[in-house]
Amino acid sequence: MSVAIKNNLKIIKQRIQSACEKCGRNPSEITLVAVSKTKPDEDVLQLLGAGQLHFGENRAKSLEDRMASIKDDSIQWHFIGNLQTNKIKYMAHRVDWIQSIHKKKALKEVEKRAAEEDRIINVLIQVNISSEDQKSGCSLEDLEGILKYAHNLKHTRVLGLMGMATFTDEPERVRPEFKLLRTLRDKHMHLNGGAVDLKHLSMGMTNDLEIAIEEGSTMVRVGTAIFGERNY
Ligand SMILES: *Cc1c(COP(=O)(O)O)cnc(C)c1O
Repeated sequence: MSVAIKNNLKIIKQRIQSACEKCGRNPSEITLVAVSKTKPDEDVLQLLGAGQLHFGENRAKSLEDRMASIKDDSIQWHFIGNLQTNKIKYMAHRVDWIQSIHKKKALKEVEKRAAEEDRIINVLIQVNISSEDQKSGCSLEDLEGILKYAHNLKHTRVLGLMGMATFTDEPERVRPEFKLLRTLRDKHMHLNGGAVDLKHLSMGMTNDLEIAIEEGSTMVRVGTAIFGERNY
């Protein structure tokens, strides 16, 4: 098992490298977030041993448990799932990135909890770029207001946008959605300043990371291709 996981990591890095070569980008611009949801701690430790430092979970309780059981200061923990505002307090003491902020109320809570912990938490604003799912992410229209609100935060840094593409087994179908996220980012660059610096685009998963990289992704979130199929 451990050999397989390390080999999977190698293969993913090669995929990132080839995708970058194809469009003239530098692989060092891409952060690989290993999405360990539902997988045992041993798997995470194997990857950590192989030099992987960014890990993501999509449930608040899973992240809390993971951060408690694997104590390593070099790890950057990402929360990537649907976020209920009342769960932020359970992760604020350690989480490094919250990728799924989609309203001012959640930003306000992150700011409050990070201040209490005397920390800075990086966040991405999740935008609804998918044609099918109305629930994940803010609307295109709400983005500007959220970014303006974020300007004066002291313990929260808004470092970019995150998007979940439509679930499909034809990767090319998601290209317009990735393009949309990048266009949105470019369109809002004039709001950079204060706590806002829109340098990251978190998009691309196991099935579509090449397309996401071609469209400007700086963070890919990969689960299945590293850890194997999930059974839930
Ligand atoms: C599970 C998950 C991923 C990883 O998906 P894979 O297809 O397994 O690579 C990425 N992002 C989010 C938000 C997820 O929940």
